[in-house]
Amino acid sequence: MDKSIEKIVSLCKRRGFIFQSSDIYGGFSAIYDYGPLGVDLKNKISQLWWKEMTQNHENIVGLDSGILMHPKIWEASGHTGAFNDPLVDCKQCKSRFRADEFSDDFESFDWQNTKCPKCGTTGSLTEPRQFNLMFKTHIGPVEESGMEAFLRPETAQGIYVNYQLVQGAMRLKVPFGIAQIGKAFRNEIVARNFIFRTREFEQMEMQYFVKPGFDDDSMQQWKEKRFGFYHEILGIDKSRLRFHEHDKNELAHYAKEAWDIEYKFPFGWSEIEGVHNRTDFDLKRHEEFSGKNLSYFDQSNNERFLPYIIETSAGLNRMLLTVLVNAYWEDKENNRIVMKFHPKLAPIKAVVCPLVKKDGLPEKAREIMYILKPDFKVLYDQQGSIGKRYYRQDEAGTPFGITVDHQSMEDNTITIRHRDTQQQERVHIDSIHKRLMELEDAWHH
Ligand SMILES: [Zn+2]
Repeated sequence: MDKSIEKIVSLCKRRGFIFQSSDIYGGFSAIYDYGPLGVDLKNKISQLWWKEMTQNHENIVGLDSGILMHPKIWEASGHTGAFNDPLVDCKQCKSRFRADEFSDDFESFDWQNTKCPKCGTTGSLTEPRQFNLMFKTHIGPVEESGMEAFLRPETAQGIYVNYQLVQGAMRLKVPFGIAQIGKAFRNEIVARNFIFRTREFEQMEMQYFVKPGFDDDSMQQWKEKRFGFYHEILGIDKSRLRFHEHDKNELAHYAKEAWDIEYKFPFGWSEIEGVHNRTDFDLKRHEEFSGKNLSYFDQSNNERFLPYIIETSAGLNRMLLTVLVNAYWEDKENNRIVMKFHPKLAPIKAVVCPLVKKDGLPEKAREIMYILKPDFKVLYDQQGSIGKRYYRQDEAGTPFGITVDHQSMEDNTITIRHRDTQQQERVHIDSIHKRLMELEDAWHH
């Protein structure tokens, strides 16, 4: 297969997108570090999401709540107090087993081809699941006397507990949404598939507060909007995207309806975002545990109610992996690997190259770089043959190559080389800026 995870992992390391954590110490399980190109790409994706949510919707506002929160929040959410042992469920007969009854090596054990000890069905066992996945820590100078605290396993709770403060301060009327990007932590027992499932990750969640009775319509709207985001904004191939609805057995206890947006990864169709109708479950629980009234007062109808919540919950790292897999292209004809990012996502917009390292060409190329720098992320490269320089940038996903040659010294023109087609066009130095903008706007994926 062209788009294998192994090839993408290797390109990510080679070109500085993603490294395994603590590499010189032999790595640290299921944690990854984002290199120079990876952090730029990740930031661009999260900025597009943020813009889509908070700029394109006048009734959605942002929030950045703490990773550490009052431990009672996790009692209310149901995260603490759950079973502590990893469990395996049989989808056929609904029996539940401790995972260590089968094997101590959860990651490599073949759960797919194991028989259920109760009903004897093969292939009906789930992978081991831990119900309490939270990382524990302590607040205060001494561990014993300190208060137990947890690294948040999801960003959503930070939104629920701040919802009234946000609503009041911004004078928001239902329906309205609160968006948040932030890190979350889960002590996953089966972490795998590169950055797909990791123990430290970033969520991009938006919680939309609606009047009960309007929740089904809102759910429908958010499903469409979120699916459109992947195709229209990120340029993800539509044939590799689909919806999966949770049936009664999959539905979480808090959800009335739940849909996953799935992408066809090299390891199979997997969830990249969830759109859930959480009803008033969360606010009810926080009322119960905090003793505070969390209802919303609707002035126009002079009534109070507890809003229903439609949640759109995406993982930034999964979204990044989707963009990487989608972009990866082996151009066998030309013996090169190309990351076909949309120019608005590409970490580097253009590489500026003097054809040779003499005759004033490097100086001219630097001049051009300084013209473009305020508006575009550009890179200067004079190392190696021009073909090698282009191929390096093809792997980095840089959409444009600007080359200064001897003709540039005579008539102030340069060539722009297009990454995907390798075609070139000659442009006057005064219009490079405008031309790059045009090319980006007219981009088709
Ligand atoms: Zn069974």
